[in-house]
Amino acid sequence: MTEEDRPSSPADLAPTTGKKPTAADDDRFECRACGHIYNPNKGDPTTKVIAGTPFSVLPETWKCPVCTAKKTAFSNIGTISNSEVSGFKENQGYGFGVNTMTQSQKSLLIYGGLGLGILLFLSLYTLN
Ligand SMILES: [Zn+2]
Repeated sequence: MTEEDRPSSPADLAPTTGKKPTAADDDRFECRACGHIYNPNKGDPTTKVIAGTPFSVLPETWKCPVCTAKKTAFSNIGTISNSEVSGFKENQGYGFGVNTMTQSQKSLLIYGGLGLGILLFLSLYTLN
């Protein structure tokens, strides 16, 4: 990614809607100059980029809303799912629910099993 300065023509100002994005549409990009992260799911209110706009279709003239660095100063830091914790949290809650369930089931099994064992033991006695 060592692109030289391109002469900005008025055509570059128009959003490149017809272009096919090369990176994944939900890839986030981090500004190497200031650390600002462009999130395609949120867009960028400062530069009036609507939510759901992939970084790859942003106009070449788009600049970092924090430090006005060029688009080429941004580097791909991967998809959102890699760092979002919502899915992980869900799993944790699910695991916890299962754990409490198995705990009560365990105690039930222990006492129920003990009772059954005694009954079996007694029935064996009565048989003899
Ligand atoms: Zn920046």
